[in-house]
Amino acid sequence: MSDCLFCKISRGEIPAGKVYEDDEVIAFHDINPAAPVHMLLIPRQHIASLADAQDEHQALLGKMLLLAPRLAREQGLGDGFRTVINTGRGGGQEVFHLHLHIIGGSTIPPMVRHH
Ligand code: 5GP
Ligand code: ZN
Repeated sequence: MSDCLFCKISRGEIPAGKVYEDDEVIAFHDINPAAPVHMLLIPRQHIASLADAQDEHQALLGKMLLLAPRLAREQGLGDGFRTVINTGRGGGQEVFHLHLHIIGGSTIPPMVRHH
């Protein structure tokens, strides 16, 4: 996906504050952080959303989840953090390249308001 924003970040065509990268994934600081620490962890492979992930991505998705606490700890979130994956327009997704938000460093409000 040549015109995808996060593919461009993955290829190094757009600068981002990288916190981790290997041959399969890359993590970088969100440009508009919702908390003192707000990272995005993405696969290098273009998967548009979690709803587009397939069985073949099982190991990759598992790797991302297992990497999240390590990256969080490295960014000072040893006390805990929030992970978020917005999926589709109904889920508030804005960038259609799968990404895991890793958020923390301040008081995290309850995720769901009960009506
Ligand atoms: P979504 O709403 O799709 O789950 O989240 C997209 C996230 O990407 C937002 O938190 C937004 O601030 C972040 N973002 C959008 N454009 C850029 C960019 O060019 N660089 C970085 N580092 N983050 C971005
Ligand atoms: Zn992409």
